[in-house]
Amino acid sequence: MAEKTQRCCKCDLDLEIKQTVFSYMGMHFNHDLLRCPSCGQVYISEELVMGKIAEVEQLMEEK
Ligand SMILES: [Zn+2]
Repeated sequence: MAEKTQRCCKCDLDLEIKQTVFSYMGMHFNHDLLRCPSCGQVYISEELVMGKIAEVEQLMEEK
C-alpha cells in the first residue's frame, strides 16, 4: 500500500500530515497522521496502530 498522496474519498482532496491525538484502547497517542483538510477525517494505517500497541505493551511490561 502506498503511504503518500492518499485522498479523502468524500472530498477528493489530498490528505495532509497533521499532528493529531487519537485514542486506542483507552490510551491517547500524539502522532503525525494523514488528515483531510476539509472534513477532518483521519487515516490511521494499520502499521502505525500496531507500532503504537507494541509501544504501549512495552511500557506496561516495564511498570
Ligand atoms: Zn474529506
